[in-house]
Amino acid sequence: MFEQRIYNFSAGPSMLPLQVLEQAGREITNYQGSGMSVMEMSHRSKVFAKIFAETKEKFRTLLQVPENYEIMFLQGGASTQFSAIPMNLMGMTGKADYALTGNFSTSAWKEAKRYGDAIVACTSEGENHCDIPTSFQVRPDASYFYYCSNNTIYGTQWKEVPDTGAVPLVCDMSSEICSKPIDVSKFGVIYAGAQKNLAPAGVTIVIVRKDLIGHAMPQTPMMLDWKNQADNDSMLNTPPCWCIYMLGLVCDWLEVQGGLSGVQKINESKAKMLYDALDATQIFACHAKKEARSDMNVTFRTASAELDALFVAEAEKIGLSNLKGHRKVGGMRASIYNAMPVEGVEKLCDFVTRFDKANR
Ligand SMILES: *Cc1c(COP(=O)(O)O)cnc(C)c1O
Repeated sequence: MFEQRIYNFSAGPSMLPLQVLEQAGREITNYQGSGMSVMEMSHRSKVFAKIFAETKEKFRTLLQVPENYEIMFLQGGASTQFSAIPMNLMGMTGKADYALTGNFSTSAWKEAKRYGDAIVACTSEGENHCDIPTSFQVRPDASYFYYCSNNTIYGTQWKEVPDTGAVPLVCDMSSEICSKPIDVSKFGVIYAGAQKNLAPAGVTIVIVRKDLIGHAMPQTPMMLDWKNQADNDSMLNTPPCWCIYMLGLVCDWLEVQGGLSGVQKINESKAKMLYDALDATQIFACHAKKEARSDMNVTFRTASAELDALFVAEAEKIGLSNLKGHRKVGGMRASIYNAMPVEGVEKLCDFVTRFDKANR
């Protein structure tokens, strides 16, 4: 039992900003004098239409999405886009190239193989995905090149956007979207499940360059065809209304943090603080190679599974929660997305230092 909110290091769903939760709480039974909750509103109502349009506009401004890109708010999670991407794009040339840097990109590639000639352009599998490949091949006639910019489970992150020339770049940004500014014009498609860094689970943001819409394979289910969704402004059926409203509140909160460049500074300093604390210990080692370390998911371990378990259990007792690593990596994982306060990371660093001294 916790009397207060704890520092929740879960990889997703993960912490949301306290101010956002408080505002949602204040408005939960009567949204701005409408007499009802956003959860109870028709998605076709004027009140919700305004929430939807404003959220989309706020998101476009925040991420500086150019006008020649469509922004869609869809359901089915990031995983549904593993299928939607080949179904919408691979019909162009029948080929697609995949960078495999973790669990999610590998799942996406396996799915793509069902729809055409999807090959592995590079992989970090041999080293249990502790690194990001530095070179890769792109077939000039590939319909797209696919990669995952931040590997949630392994704690690695691409530091540069891969240069694929004229081949459209497709990126799974689920666990780093809106953690820093990006140049959207370098991408063909950016997509992300919201539950890591943006909103509650239930909405998936899909940003597509408009010329890449309208190439779906004939057998594409109508709900997965981006043209159908874009033509209907993501309202082919009932959209995830509550999650879209929450996304709007998170966008407002991000503006208060100084926009994406403001939040980037905070994120970089939180990550540096934690990596510095870990590097200064004797008993902890990071899973990711230094050059590939993620600012969002910090993976580390001791030399012993028993000591790892003790660390997780003792941390839990002092309100540092959900630090157990994913079973594919073992050890610990601290997810320090936008909403993790600096104080949470400070408290974790302090605990890491004390645990190290006590268990050498
Ligand atoms: C969590 C995650 C997914 C899966 O997201 P769902 O919305 O649960 O389908 C995919 N890719 C990355 C990088 C993730 O972190």
